[in-house]
Amino acid sequence: MRYHFCPKCGGALSIEKTQDKNKPQCTQCSFTFYQNPAVGVAAIVIKDQKLLLGKRQGSYAGQWCIPCGYVEWDEDVYDAVIREFYEETGLTISISKVYTVLSNFHNPAQHTVGIWFMAEVMDGEEKAGDDLEEVGYFTFEDMPELAFPTDRIVIEKLKSEELIQ
Ligand SMILES: [Zn+2]
Repeated sequence: MRYHFCPKCGGALSIEKTQDKNKPQCTQCSFTFYQNPAVGVAAIVIKDQKLLLGKRQGSYAGQWCIPCGYVEWDEDVYDAVIREFYEETGLTISISKVYTVLSNFHNPAQHTVGIWFMAEVMDGEEKAGDDLEEVGYFTFEDMPELAFPTDRIVIEKLKSEELIQ
């Protein structure tokens, strides 16, 4: 159980009634606090069969990832990936398709469902921003240390489909 107090009234949350740690209920107002994964989005940009990655600062500092972020509450999922990619790389992208979808369990405090989109660069200059300090293109052999195990799965799929070299 990640949270102990009701977000509506401040009463104590308990799993006594539901017996489900992902559905604690408020002992004061009976509000059920459903704990669901957040949605993460990432964009795959490939140039000359090399994959664009970003070196992270803040959480997972020094490790690399496919540029990514969270979908905000009122935001369309496609707008989210375009916004996040622009904030982190300075590049405006156009989405061609969903490449794959995976559950991320690496952070026990925040499970996510990650959506990796195939994207093409439309405009802009590569410039690391937001939670990235550096961006670069990598071949499979030159892949730096990755922050997330699911990025590794995605990268192996890209390699097996010969989309990266
Ligand atoms: Zn309550």
